[in-house]
Amino acid sequence: MKNIILLFIVLFSIQLSAQRNCGTVQYLKDKQMQDPGIESRMQLMNQQIQQITNSKDGKSSRNVIRIPVVVHVVYKLSVQNISDTQIQSQIDVLNEDYKRLNTDASLVPPPYEPLAANCEIEFCLASRDPNGQSTNGITRTLTTANSFTINDAVKRSVTGGKDAWPTDKYLNIWVCNLTDPLLGFATLPGTVNASLDGVVIAYKYFGRIGSQAPYNKGRTATHEIGHWLNLLHIWGDDEGSADPCAGTDQVNDTPNQEGENYGCPTFPQVSCSNDGDMSMNFMDYVNDACMYMFTNGQGERMRTTLENFRSGLLTSSGCLPALAPSDCDTLNNITGGDGLVYYFMNELLPEETGYLTGTSSLGYKAFAEKYTSSEEQIINSLRFDFAIASAQNANTLITAVVWDANGPNGGPGTSLQESTFALSDVIANVDGFTFTDVYFPNPPVVNGDYYVGFVLSSSVGDTLAIYCNQLDEVNINTAWCRDATGTWYEYSDQASFGQALSLAVRPIQCIPVAVEKIQPMSLTVYPNPADNLINIIGGSGSKSWMLFTVDGRLVNSGNVSNSNEFQISTASIHSGVYLLKLQEAGDVKVVRIVVSHP
Ligand SMILES: [Zn+2]
Repeated sequence: MKNIILLFIVLFSIQLSAQRNCGTVQYLKDKQMQDPGIESRMQLMNQQIQQITNSKDGKSSRNVIRIPVVVHVVYKLSVQNISDTQIQSQIDVLNEDYKRLNTDASLVPPPYEPLAANCEIEFCLASRDPNGQSTNGITRTLTTANSFTINDAVKRSVTGGKDAWPTDKYLNIWVCNLTDPLLGFATLPGTVNASLDGVVIAYKYFGRIGSQAPYNKGRTATHEIGHWLNLLHIWGDDEGSADPCAGTDQVNDTPNQEGENYGCPTFPQVSCSNDGDMSMNFMDYVNDACMYMFTNGQGERMRTTLENFRSGLLTSSGCLPALAPSDCDTLNNITGGDGLVYYFMNELLPEETGYLTGTSSLGYKAFAEKYTSSEEQIINSLRFDFAIASAQNANTLITAVVWDANGPNGGPGTSLQESTFALSDVIANVDGFTFTDVYFPNPPVVNGDYYVGFVLSSSVGDTLAIYCNQLDEVNINTAWCRDATGTWYEYSDQASFGQALSLAVRPIQCIPVAVEKIQPMSLTVYPNPADNLINIIGGSGSKSWMLFTVDGRLVNSGNVSNSNEFQISTASIHSGVYLLKLQEAGDVKVVRIVVSHP
């Protein structure tokens, strides 16, 4: 008797681990109990997909659709905190299976070979998070929950899980300890609240490195993401109906099939008068090693779903590199997607009517331009407009400096901040007719009078000249120079025969004067750096845009009506750093962009 009981238990446990168990249908049934409208919405979507598919005249040329993925690892034990390597192996599997690059694709039996599809869908671990910041596409959350099952607990922080990233822009995959024998479950499009949309996979069966047989080839995620892209089980989920061949998976080219297959069946297993069950389809229940195809019809259904019912993913920036951090964000530790409004200096650069030479032949070692601020201001960088530059010493460094005004006669006094730059870079900028921008790693704060300028090296034979402007109308000199003994002079006294001058160097400041948090507009600008065109995605209503140089000169502006996507031509704009200011209904965003013409 004891032996019999023992035998029964052993058999039962083998049965548990041997059978694939997908929770998607049960999850859907649970949701339908709460929301009876799901049924009719799914029917309507199926009709629409059929109409769209019928209206397509064959398979036209098209782009691969790329889906940004965030993997939320929710773990209690360290074994559940799976490695980055295991996660990447799952992404690799998806990119093979959905583009028919899987090595076992050749195992598809001859009758079904013509149906095997390259679905032209690929996946990336997100490189940009919802705030535009850099990410590896993986979150890790320590939980007190021993396990999760077919409900939404793992998708919410308050229930021991992790809140989703915006589900219209990312495929959210939660990886956690699911109650045996559950392998995973998914949400079909349009069936749940957006915050719950995504796929849940047992950590033991995720990826093909570190996962457990017989579900150790990453096919559980391939299967569940198939559901997430609107595929149904290949046998039509008609359990319990009078006619076991009545169910449909809403796809025309998959054979009619009575029920699910387990393990690794030998082809053909005939049911419903078919040529053999398509048990090797990713949407059957066989072992990972025994499923290796989607059909063309399944691929079309997934792509049509993406293009029409998950279209936010098509414009997601999740796979793009992170936005270059705004210097102002860094300076002020503004985080979390809050909008900033910046104050720009709007002074024009001086007219380029002449230049001063900075060779040591005159004995001047440093040049400075006087500014006055009426309030506390941060000097983020200096912009120089140099006129002539040449180097005898290829390694010559120049030093950009901000001085206080506490020197003799109100001249430059103590250095507040310095940053070196290469004369060779200046030569390239002069040749390219562009400014030289020098940033301060630790930006100084000024208030009242101060000076900005540069100090030459002692290297003999180098030449550096900066444009200047004669100010004879007002006769107020703002240019100063320092000789080899360290004494500062007003330039009008020493070197310009009484001419008042100003130098073409401008402090660049950016001061956030407002932080807006109400319904912030998420903004994506790409590519960055840009050559001839910038794409802007964000907001939804009418908006205005302005493109500034970093010192506040307006380069171009425009208005856009009721669009979340538009383009700005940068073909005729010089290479350099710019600030794009976008305003929509009181929400202002500023993005630092780089224009770089090869
Ligand atoms: Zn399933």
